[in-house]
Amino acid sequence: SVKENEPDKMPPLSAVKCRRKSVAHPEINKGSKRLSCVAKPPDGQTKRGKFGEASRPNQKFYEMIQHFRETLEITPLSTTDHIEPHRISVCVRKRPFNKPEITRKEIDVVSIPGKGALLVHEPKQKVDLTKYLDNQVFQLDYSFNETATNELVYKFTAKPLVQSIFDGGMATCFAYGQTGSGKTHTMGGDFTGKQQNSSKGIYAMAAQDVFAYMNHRRYVNLDLSAYVSFFEIYNGKVYDLINKKTKLRVLEDERQQVQVVGLEEVYVTTSEEVIKIIQMGSSCRTSGQTSANANSSRSHAILQIVLRRNDRATTMHGKFSLVDLAGNERGIDVSSNDRSTLVETAEINRSLLALKECIRSLGMNSDHIPFRMSTLTKVLRDSFIGEKSRTCMIAMVSPGLASCEYTMNTLRYADRVKELKGNSKANC
Ligand code: ADP
Ligand code: MG
Repeated sequence: SVKENEPDKMPPLSAVKCRRKSVAHPEINKGSKRLSCVAKPPDGQTKRGKFGEASRPNQKFYEMIQHFRETLEITPLSTTDHIEPHRISVCVRKRPFNKPEITRKEIDVVSIPGKGALLVHEPKQKVDLTKYLDNQVFQLDYSFNETATNELVYKFTAKPLVQSIFDGGMATCFAYGQTGSGKTHTMGGDFTGKQQNSSKGIYAMAAQDVFAYMNHRRYVNLDLSAYVSFFEIYNGKVYDLINKKTKLRVLEDERQQVQVVGLEEVYVTTSEEVIKIIQMGSSCRTSGQTSANANSSRSHAILQIVLRRNDRATTMHGKFSLVDLAGNERGIDVSSNDRSTLVETAEINRSLLALKECIRSLGMNSDHIPFRMSTLTKVLRDSFIGEKSRTCMIAMVSPGLASCEYTMNTLRYADRVKELKGNSKANC
């Protein structure tokens, strides 16, 4: 029977309590009916008047969204904005349209007014076929619009965590979202064609800062060395990206310490060395696979920078884990009949569900961390423990109408991770 192999489904979305709100267009609240959100071009305009260049699919929704946007006050995040210390921070990044989307004249359904806010304009239709927008508001710690660079994203997400590993803590940064939403672009660096610029990703920028801190007079006396490991988790199994994808075992000792047996740890002294490792590991991740991108979207890639004390038999001092998570779209798409796909989907869903629960446990300072639920949370166990641990999740979203359902799913997840924000302010 296939029963026991059934995917471990995410909780029904409707059951997930969200902080999001539906907001109507300001005008809508004036009347008692929601009728005024019906697409009506402003006075004196034809259907294609103000916003419509050429006709596009869903032209009406396009106009409604543009009309709504005119009412928004937009203050984009700037590099000089204040960075608040968070024990757990949850951010969102919207990527720009790509060429095919522009050619298709896709509709942008995501607005980022600034200060951590994000709106999804979900096109809907009533039974009488009247079109309306369901505008959902999400409030996160930071929201990055399509013009944000990796540097800006880094500054507000992973950068504030670097110090914690020097203070003896664990830092973890996750890129979460559907395949194609920009996780690898953000973590590994931007692409020019197939070539990835590894020095412009969060992995490399974190490494640069680690070395800067190491030479800082406040920490130089700690006598630390840095080591890098890079591995992926595919279907619950760990593969070493530094060592020709050798399959590794995950063991837990009697003190609940989790070890990835035989994981290569490379001693590094400069960020250039780390960038080389990232390049090598990233190419190892995608090569030797049947379809170029398919497999990497189904695996979690984890880059770890470990600080060890030279004087104390290389005891671990702190660790920074940077994680490019598997695409989360499979929670929705469970139509496949293929057994291996079902097993894969179940494993991804289980690990993302476990991750959310573990971060929530960290936020509540809980003694019970459900890290055994998945390989991902097992190998990241240290990240969810201790006063000094810091976590940042970057939820990636695609702008298009075609991705609307996935975008909503990603934002609901992000919202859940952050729900206990009141308890998770850093004690500093
Ligand atoms: P994922 O890893 O989430 O599947 P990728 O990082 O591979 O997604 O991004 C998908 C495509 O979109 C890539 O071609 C990438 O270059 C492009 N892209 C993603 N984010 C951005 C961005 N912020 N700016 C420009 N292009 C982006
Ligand atoms: Mg990717």
